[in-house]
Amino acid sequence: MRKQGKKTIDFASIKTTTMLYFIFFALIILIVIWCLQDFFINNYYESMRYSESLRTANSLESEYRENPRRFGEYANETALSNGIYIRVENTSGVSVYGGSANFSYSAIEFNSDIRRVKAKLENTPLNNVSLIINNADNNKRLVYALSLNDIRESTIIIVSPLYPNAATVSIVRSMLVYIGFIVTLLAISLSIYLSRKLAAPIEGLTVSASELGRGNYNVRFNGGNFTETKELAKTLAQASYEMEKTEFYQREIVANVSHDLKTPLTMIRSYAEMIHDISGDNPAKRNEHLNVIISETDRLNKLVVEMMNMSKLQSNQVVLNKEAVNIVELARTSFESFKVLNEHDGFDLQFKPCKDCYIYGDKDKLLQVMNNFISNAVKYSGDNKYALIELKRQGKKVFFHVIDHGLGIPKDEISHVWDRYYRTSANHQRNIEGTGIGLSIVKGILTLHNADYGVESVEGQGSDFWFSMDVIKKK
Ligand code: ADP
Repeated sequence: MRKQGKKTIDFASIKTTTMLYFIFFALIILIVIWCLQDFFINNYYESMRYSESLRTANSLESEYRENPRRFGEYANETALSNGIYIRVENTSGVSVYGGSANFSYSAIEFNSDIRRVKAKLENTPLNNVSLIINNADNNKRLVYALSLNDIRESTIIIVSPLYPNAATVSIVRSMLVYIGFIVTLLAISLSIYLSRKLAAPIEGLTVSASELGRGNYNVRFNGGNFTETKELAKTLAQASYEMEKTEFYQREIVANVSHDLKTPLTMIRSYAEMIHDISGDNPAKRNEHLNVIISETDRLNKLVVEMMNMSKLQSNQVVLNKEAVNIVELARTSFESFKVLNEHDGFDLQFKPCKDCYIYGDKDKLLQVMNNFISNAVKYSGDNKYALIELKRQGKKVFFHVIDHGLGIPKDEISHVWDRYYRTSANHQRNIEGTGIGLSIVKGILTLHNADYGVESVEGQGSDFWFSMDVIKKK
């Protein structure tokens, strides 16, 4: 039962974390803007005023040249609309025009500014100079002088304040408050939206995964629109498919193995009883019966060993003992161990090697793979008792094939033969013994070796089981 407690905020959840990060981010931006506002306003204002003053001086010059009569009127308008002071002096320092200014400016300061800029203009070969004067009372201003030697040696002087007035500053401040408010609101809404969008598919997947945990393999995994969650959904769906398959095969193995175990056990019991009741005193008969018991025990043993190997592979306990291996020699060893069938069972087992070459792998494990392919070819050869073991070089790879012309595998079952406990339907009809473990061990070993492997098979015509590995140079 789930606890019905007070709802607490989970600070580790995606939702809360995203939201907090967004809000934190918005706050940082606001604080930075707020701290830098004075700096920005003043600097921006100053540079704007500076370039504006230069432009004004140029337009005043052309007006003074071209329209001297209307100059007074023009200069008045300009001074008022730009909030600057304009003055034009002639050679003797007499003011020809003295415009108005609407900024606080004492007469003493004013006269000293004019003196300073004129002195600077006299000491320079240029026809214009500018001065930025910054007094302790923060009355920062630009004083600009432009000499027009060709027109009665006149000088245009402009004094322009370089600080924003109080109204401008308060407008910008209130604007910042609004911006701050909007940014915070946007950050919160965006974070809520984003965190929900991020968390939704994960929450959905968690619900589906716990359904799967309860054994419902039909559950669907919806990964939403994000690549990562879609990928996770795909992986979970794959895991669910594999789990379902394994469970199915495991049920099968219980049936198969119990059948496989039962047969030898019944035989062992019956023959033991026979020795006990009948053949105990007859050495020839008794030996015959004992041999049956031994061979049945061997079969049981093989079955148990296979199952142990399988479970080792499954739990990743297998460590490869890799070395340079002459694959042709290894295949020959495998072939030799089956060659006895040629003599005893009228089997036609052929070996077609290629030139000696080396691969890097675990000798014993690869021998196990080869033996498995060959014993399957023998086991599923049906009435056609022929199989070919062939080695082929192809570029930098060497291929090991075991080809038989036996029962083959139905098309829709081919992809399953590598699965644990899988046995094709034909086995059950023909009562061929097996566990369905061999090829899944082969698959495990070849995968550990990064080898390619496969099977081509046609039902009723035969199979070609193969694997290939990179050829190495033997040192
Ligand atoms: P087992 O042979 O013990 O059943 P394997 O894992 O070796 O288990 O093989 C799995 C299944 O693949 C076999 O049951 C058989 O149906 C099929 N199979 C394997 N090799 C061959 C082959 N050469 N020809 C036909 N079927 C084969």
